[in-house]
Amino acid sequence: MQMRNNSKHYQIEAIAEEVRNCQKCSLSETRTHAVPGEGDADSSVVLIGEAPGYWEDRKGRPFVGAAGKVLDEVLKEISLRRAEIFITNVLKCRPPGNRDPRAEEIQACTPFLDRQLEIIRPRFIVTLGRHSTAYLFSKMNLDFYGITRVHGQMYEAKFAGWESYVMPTFHPAAALYNVNLREKLIDDLRLLRRMLHG
Ligand code: URA
Repeated sequence: MQMRNNSKHYQIEAIAEEVRNCQKCSLSETRTHAVPGEGDADSSVVLIGEAPGYWEDRKGRPFVGAAGKVLDEVLKEISLRRAEIFITNVLKCRPPGNRDPRAEEIQACTPFLDRQLEIIRPRFIVTLGRHSTAYLFSKMNLDFYGITRVHGQMYEAKFAGWESYVMPTFHPAAALYNVNLREKLIDDLRLLRRMLHG
């Protein structure tokens, strides 16, 4: 990833270094690599997944396994390149066996995500799946009744000193063997594309 001489990029890289050295929860004992996230810190779009899986843990990069392939296909459908956006996760380290994140892990890890968002201040935050949606909804004081009910809608979010739209959609892993969900995921991201250019 090319580094630009720009303070947002330096701040994001400083957080990435903290993440790589983090020992705030027990996932640090089982990880191979932490996965801080990557992309353009100047982007108006941030995508948030759940947690690194096997390949992400091996490589230290987000969405490089099977779910990443789906994500790449979906991004291609809407002519958005990875280099134009920032991609990260709720948890920066892989839960063993890809189990669900635990409350104490989310509590320990999300200050990193909060700081990444605060630096990037994206106009659009796309939450992929229920874990990142539930976390963003809790930040927005919204009740979360499941991804099927909320996907594809833009929620106005007011954070301290900046505003954003949060758009929940399906996790690419859920769309791996489900053509129907893949279509819905693409449709949701088409809305993002239209709003980006609107
Ligand atoms: N699933 C996620 O939620 N994030 C990744 O980085 C990879 C798979």
